[in-house]
Amino acid sequence: MTYDEFKQKGLSIDMTRGKPAPEQLDLSQALIDEAGSAGYRSRDGIDCRNYGHLLGLPEMRELGAELLGVPPAQVVAAGNSSLELMHDALAFAMLFGLPGGEPWRKADQVSFLCPVPGYDRHFAICAALGIRMIAVPMREDGPDMAFVEAQVATDPSIKGIWCTPLYSNPTGTIYSAQVVERLASMPCAAPDFRLFWDDAYRFHHLTEHEHASPDIVDACARAGHGDRPFVFASLSKVTLAGGGVAFLASSARNVQWWQQHVAVRTIGPDKLNQLRHVRYVRDRAALARLMARHRALLRPKFGVLAAVFDAHLKSVPGVSWTAPQGGYFVSLYVPPGRARRTVELAAQAGIVLTPAGAAFPYGIDPHDTHLRIAPSFPSLSEIELAAHGIALSVRRAIDELDPL
Ligand code: PLP
Repeated sequence: MTYDEFKQKGLSIDMTRGKPAPEQLDLSQALIDEAGSAGYRSRDGIDCRNYGHLLGLPEMRELGAELLGVPPAQVVAAGNSSLELMHDALAFAMLFGLPGGEPWRKADQVSFLCPVPGYDRHFAICAALGIRMIAVPMREDGPDMAFVEAQVATDPSIKGIWCTPLYSNPTGTIYSAQVVERLASMPCAAPDFRLFWDDAYRFHHLTEHEHASPDIVDACARAGHGDRPFVFASLSKVTLAGGGVAFLASSARNVQWWQQHVAVRTIGPDKLNQLRHVRYVRDRAALARLMARHRALLRPKFGVLAAVFDAHLKSVPGVSWTAPQGGYFVSLYVPPGRARRTVELAAQAGIVLTPAGAAFPYGIDPHDTHLRIAPSFPSLSEIELAAHGIALSVRRAIDELDPL
């Protein structure tokens, strides 16, 4: 089939965001059906209908601690969104400063390292708060550490780095133990430097090999930088994307700092939702069983995408794509200068892709080569069609440069 023939199909498929499909949300329907029977009294007799417990229901913090591998006192169980916690941690640092430090807003410049391609919403927070973004090349095993170390050692305006250590969005990168040790131990010119450690895909394995997230809290403590990591995670793509529970884990000092500032913002989280989640998710083993059911739904989608790309793009010079072992995304690389055009052509053929450049600070992919593909939400047959349309769009975009 040619690109023009494909266009005649008049499709409309959205491949933009990494949302769970309705069938995945159905897996946690019990959270809704059994809301009444979960009641409102916690294990310790807390009336979850009422205000209070700023850092979360104790048993939810304990479950968070079991899932994240840190002591319960160092875990905050919050609302439904970890992105919200990342935003607030940065906003608090800007307004009030981190423990023992000056408010960042008083500095002439605040900068963040941004491994690329990365998560567009991380970059949107930096843009909204006026934080300068410095792109860091992503390698096979995590950010280019020689670059990172040189930057943080000499530039005190660099206050942090975004890290998605397991199955990174959108490259699927798994940080190596060496990269993690170097991030934990590297000397930084800014005394209040932080790792914004977004463990969003900690539970989201696409293969039977369940890679473990590195224990960054312990690694930093061992390196003498106990306050360096802010770990973020959530149950968004475990239970309900709009109604899960989010966690923040860090040193006792950072948790105390968080408590001080969050106390102004809220009287406490939704403990009823936390109670329902404790009863439904229960423990690490039950969560792993639930994630295996997600995997059974997701893996064929990634499989069909890869098979179609293989059939139509394998021999095309300059084109490659990732084979992630977890997470929600595939990165597709096209020859320089062809990513934007591919997105345009795909749109004309009825396939909406994330704008080219979205995975880069300021929306600028310097070589215009990267596309983020999100195969989770559409149905299997839609993905097969969309993958074909994307492949034809890539080929057309390349042919336009070098017509026969
Ligand atoms: N972090 C990353 C890397 C993500 O890809 C996403 C969602 O796609 C989120 C955070 C959002 O997390 P939450 O639903 O907990 O706000």
